[in-house]
Amino acid sequence: MSASQPDPIRPIPALLSLVVPLYNEIEVLAELHARCVAALEPLCGFEMICVDDGSSDGTRQALRDLAAADSRVRGVLLSRNFGHQAALTAGLEAADGAVIVTMDADLQDPPELIGELLEEWRRGGEIVSATRRSRAGESRIKLATASGFYGAFGRLSGIDLSEQTGDYRLYDRRALEALSSMHERSRFLRGMSAWIGFDQRAIEFDREPRFAGETKFTPRRMIRFSFDAISSFSHLPLQLATLLGFVFSILAFLAIPIAIGLKLAGQFVPGITTVLLAVLLLGGIQLITVGIIGEYLGRVYDEVKARPLYIVSELTDRQ
Ligand code: UDP
Ligand code: MG
Repeated sequence: MSASQPDPIRPIPALLSLVVPLYNEIEVLAELHARCVAALEPLCGFEMICVDDGSSDGTRQALRDLAAADSRVRGVLLSRNFGHQAALTAGLEAADGAVIVTMDADLQDPPELIGELLEEWRRGGEIVSATRRSRAGESRIKLATASGFYGAFGRLSGIDLSEQTGDYRLYDRRALEALSSMHERSRFLRGMSAWIGFDQRAIEFDREPRFAGETKFTPRRMIRFSFDAISSFSHLPLQLATLLGFVFSILAFLAIPIAIGLKLAGQFVPGITTVLLAVLLLGGIQLITVGIIGEYLGRVYDEVKARPLYIVSELTDRQ
């Protein structure tokens, strides 16, 4: 430890919970387990909560076997695929540790970093995020869309998220409890964990390419996820309709004296084409704004139904 680092103020925790969501990750499971155990064993007592998000490739059975062989592994098997954020939530709610770490299964987030996250917690951090210094093995399109999304999210929501932050993060128990009190269905844990406050810190790492298998995020899922994130933290898209309404009303008012002036001067007032274009343009804008309102309304409907975020079909430690 360098001289500039303050001494730890917290003792080593009795139990650390590592939460890992898995969706069709059979190829990485053994390596994941080996590397996590190697990284965590020297640190403190731990439990590894593996949430199976409705896999169909044998991950479920492999998890049952792993949990039977290693009592520190706890499998939470969801009844179907509920998505990354819901799976993370399921794991967070099952966690018993004083310190909880969430991490992707594909080893893009190296488990060896947990020691550093833990050190930062011991020095007083309550939420410690691992931010990517570099991202190997990710497509240019993914990087460009990610940067566009984080820019838009920051401007619309006023919450400044680093573009390089994913869901590799350590939570103090107190911070996790605050997070668990947020029951919204459109979950965007990165935004939510920034929103709750507390002592937030970040450490940097180099992101590795996926160990095996393929990304589970199709472009369609990414778009949904982005709109979920923005709509749950900002009403600006809704207010856009009001703004557009004002802009076009002002334009229309300005056009009235012009039209009268042209008429008095005996000028030809351009006819059908202009009218048609104006109608089409306004019709298009109206449909877009109605669509935006619909997106919010659909989410309000989902919230009102208050369905559970996920359904657990099996816990390996409770038969
Ligand atoms: N994942 C999940 N449910 C899903 C999609 C993904 O639990 O519906 C998990 C996946 O197994 C991995 C993590 O979420 O552990 C991140 O997924 P992935 O690596 O495919 O995303 P990327 O790193 O490409 O953004
Ligand atoms: Mg990944």
